[in-house]
Amino acid sequence: MRITVLGSGTSSGVPVVGCRCATCSSTNPRDKRLRPSIMLELEGAVLVVDSASDFRQQMLQYQVERLDALVYTHHHYDHIAGFDDLRAFNFHSGEAVPIYALQETLDNLKRTFEYAFVPPLQIGGGVPQIVAHVIDSEPFNLLGITVQPIPMMHGLMRVNGYRFGRFAYCTDTNYIPDESLRLLKGLDVLILDALRYHEHPTHFTVDQAVEMAQRIGAGQTYFTHIAHQILHDELSERLPANIALAYDGLQFEL
Ligand SMILES: [Zn+2]
Ligand SMILES: [Zn+2]
Ligand SMILES: [Zn+2]
Repeated sequence: MRITVLGSGTSSGVPVVGCRCATCSSTNPRDKRLRPSIMLELEGAVLVVDSASDFRQQMLQYQVERLDALVYTHHHYDHIAGFDDLRAFNFHSGEAVPIYALQETLDNLKRTFEYAFVPPLQIGGGVPQIVAHVIDSEPFNLLGITVQPIPMMHGLMRVNGYRFGRFAYCTDTNYIPDESLRLLKGLDVLILDALRYHEHPTHFTVDQAVEMAQRIGAGQTYFTHIAHQILHDELSERLPANIALAYDGLQFEL
């Protein structure tokens, strides 16, 4: 299993439009962050978590030619807005893309992209074709592996993190209940939300994420969903052992 971080940024992306702060003006490629998403490659099959706002650019940048499954964490715009660009994979494969989402995520996709769900608003192949699978907190099989949803809270919103074998992706959260922490034992790698230094109602701060990462105790933890208040090199120097910032293009195999 090869994992690629397609985007490590928060909802605005980094740089933020119109901002001249140190991070947004930085020339370090690790301070350029697309909207949050990861790709898993499993013996030729490709699974992507979330169709982020930068989905098209991410698919081009990493030369992704097939998409066997798309798994959604939740329905915030930064995680769904590349949905219309699933059409490219429909054109290539001639098949619908299987998507896996919580019921409320699917309901929101249907509202946001109504034209794709209410026939026959458009005729001629102009809408994304998907096969929707509603999932909840029970594990499910996908592309030969077991996917374990990790129920978490994102402010008042329920979201899913996901565990794939000895790797887990837990973005967009500021609270992981004890039952979910039990599902995160024995990880080699964890990717965890760490938005910025000061408090936020729906995301872990850096300090909260460090504490959570140490509690979970994965062999290696990477932080994601990073806002422009964080300069990559500056924070990287001070993070404890086995914790690092993710960055766009980070890749590892498990
Ligand atoms: Zn987000
Ligand atoms: Zn900035
Ligand atoms: Zn969110």
